[in-house]
Amino acid sequence: MNSENHFNIVVIGAGPAGCQCAISLAKLGYKILLVEQHEIFQKNDFSSAATPLETLDKFDLPETVVGSYWQKISIVTTNVHQTWASPKILGAVLNFAKLRAFLAGEVETYGGRVWMGCRYTRHFQ
Ligand SMILES: Cc1cc2nc3c(=O)[nH]c(=O)nc-3n(C[C@H](O)[C@H](O)[C@H](O)COP(=O)(O)OP(=O)(O)OC[C@H]3O[C@@H](n4cnc5c(N)ncnc54)[C@H](O)[C@@H]3O)c2cc1C
Repeated sequence: MNSENHFNIVVIGAGPAGCQCAISLAKLGYKILLVEQHEIFQKNDFSSAATPLETLDKFDLPETVVGSYWQKISIVTTNVHQTWASPKILGAVLNFAKLRAFLAGEVETYGGRVWMGCRYTRHFQ
């Protein structure tokens, strides 16, 4: 195996957690490989990804990952239906595929590698 494929840490799964972990470790200078079993992020675009507005600032997310904004929440159960609304925007509904593509791009920006379409099955010591 050539040295290009030697890594300090392999992170399995390019969800928000794996991507964020890989970004933090790459920022610390580790040689990171992030692997994702799906070939494209649209393949498992499962999350509604609604979040408070603060998340955008806290994780330095660009507007391009925002699908829409929200200012009202409704909780609907069998016998109670309650809505809370605000005149100002309270949160965003992220485009989950774009969010993960952006975060994976950040891993590469900080010197990490991202292998799409690779599934972890086992490891050897
Ligand atoms: C229907 C639905 C709606 C939701 N709505 C919201 C919401 O509105 N707001 C909110 O905050 N949260 C929401 N969530 C929860 C949110 O999506 C999860 O908390 C979040 O995705 C968890 O991130 P994660 O990185 O831990 O895992 P995941 O997002 O599940 O990412 C794990 C990644 O690992 C990959 N993977 C798994 N096994 C392997 C393997 N062996 N090899 C390689 N890759 C692998 C998977 O393909 C996946 O990409 C929702 C979840 C669902 C299901």
